[in-house]
Amino acid sequence: MKPLSGGCLCGAVRYEIDGRPKGSVAHCHCSMCRRAAGSVAVTWLTVAPDQFRLTRGALTRYASSAKGARGFCGTCGSPVTFLHADHPDELDVTVGTLDRPEDMPASLHIWTTSRLSWLHLDVHLPEREDDADPLL
Ligand SMILES: [Zn+2]
Ligand SMILES: [Zn+2]
Repeated sequence: MKPLSGGCLCGAVRYEIDGRPKGSVAHCHCSMCRRAAGSVAVTWLTVAPDQFRLTRGALTRYASSAKGARGFCGTCGSPVTFLHADHPDELDVTVGTLDRPEDMPASLHIWTTSRLSWLHLDVHLPEREDDADPLL
């Protein structure tokens, strides 16, 4: 299987994901993702950390909470990864930075308690009020 690939807006950071992603694709509605990306929701693909490989550049890291670390391009600012200390076996990658996001449709919504009332996105998908992943 050809690895999934992606990168930031400016191209300074490029990555590949080896094998089949281990987790789900989720629209996150939490307020921290919203601010970090400047977007009304952020769609994450969950992979095992050892599936993710940088092929160019490096990620700048920001500790957005005591346990959460966000990786982004230090040049153009594209958000790329999220890692939570309580879930070291899961790395979230922004679907929006994939070269072929069309191939990774979302399967659920998370943190729906923070969802914007006027956002109507994939309304047929299951919802969770937090980030617990029912598919793992
Ligand atoms: Zn960049
Ligand atoms: Zn979030």
